[in-house]
Amino acid sequence: MGRRTPTIEIREDEVAVCVDEMALLGRHPEGGLYRAVYTPAWQQAVDTFTGWLKSAGLEAKQDAVGNVFGVLEGTQPGPSILTGSHIDTAIQGGPLDGTLGVIAGFLALRALKEAHGPPRRTLEVVAVCDEEASRFHSNFWGSRAIAGLIRPGEAESIFDADGISLADAMRGCQLDPSAVEKARRDDIDTFIELHIEQGPLLEREGVPVGVVMAITAIEQLEFEVRGRADHAGGFPMDLRRDPMIGAAEMVLSATKAALELGEPAVATVGKIRARPGSPNIVAADVTFTVDARYPDQARHERFVAAIADSFDAIARRNGLELNHKRLLYQPATQSTQELVATIKSAAAELGYPCREIVSGAGHDTQVLARTGVGRAMIFVPSVNGRSHAPDEWTPLPDQVKGIAVLTETLHRLAY
Ligand SMILES: [Zn+2]
Repeated sequence: MGRRTPTIEIREDEVAVCVDEMALLGRHPEGGLYRAVYTPAWQQAVDTFTGWLKSAGLEAKQDAVGNVFGVLEGTQPGPSILTGSHIDTAIQGGPLDGTLGVIAGFLALRALKEAHGPPRRTLEVVAVCDEEASRFHSNFWGSRAIAGLIRPGEAESIFDADGISLADAMRGCQLDPSAVEKARRDDIDTFIELHIEQGPLLEREGVPVGVVMAITAIEQLEFEVRGRADHAGGFPMDLRRDPMIGAAEMVLSATKAALELGEPAVATVGKIRARPGSPNIVAADVTFTVDARYPDQARHERFVAAIADSFDAIARRNGLELNHKRLLYQPATQSTQELVATIKSAAAELGYPCREIVSGAGHDTQVLARTGVGRAMIFVPSVNGRSHAPDEWTPLPDQVKGIAVLTETLHRLAY
């Protein structure tokens, strides 16, 4: 089979114009961006994106929750190939998390339309309304709406810090919360999301493009270690039941479990509290969280079980009581192998080094995957691995390479 020569050029200046325009919307007074769903800044970003679509001759549609789709109609009937990402940001977030995937999808569709005209299969780009949950505890609100995973009445039951319900916030943007189920799509069979890596690997290795093999399982548990509050002076060491000693051992044990399993296993104790919390009292109880992540589901489950077993043993040895509850659980998502292969060959054809990578963060892709669509992600490097911060950045040439790989991938799939 002969090699096709890519004919589409993604230009740095065109990418920069889009990134710069979006980076003006939702500036946080203390730095970075805060473009939370259904706020005026978010509405501005939605309007800007819609304007881009129209100016490129793409059909623009907003669904019931405010996701915006740009459509490049195919000549043949059948399900759509979707690309894009989310347009909201974390609090004091950066300019690229989510937004670069939206821009990438837009520029890819525009370039394909200009170079090749209508595709055989319908291509769509989506700006997902809310992924970060930075205003409401809304848990992938935008992509859950597309996947039909929003519970009836949910919009009325979620509130922001000011007590405004998600439903009222929707009404403020001329969206009808009783129509949420209309956002459900069953005519999409492929989703490809370009996103910043949010980790240091691509930059460290000097590789501009990552193809995501899996999105890690994420599990967060809260452990409560109970002992006995004794006087810090009156009680000798050997007569105490000090939960802080047990908790300290447990923190180290969780870390050891991750190191023993090896990359990309991670375990994090990011939150800890002792009660009553006084310098001169042995703690009565210590509560802490464990966030554990591994991209293979079966191994992830063994990893978490090993951590819990080691905690039980530590508690027994120290005469402590141990309780736990699960705070969050997201199973691992595997990418579709054929799409991974298409992305790799697109990168090879363009002459860009490409590396397999695992996503340690959650993404809209994992939610849409629950509907059974084919899915894959393209990562571009994060400078110093930084994200969810004002200094989040990807060098412009690497942004362009990622978008070019996305464009070539969509060309192979849709034309
Ligand atoms: Zn994101």
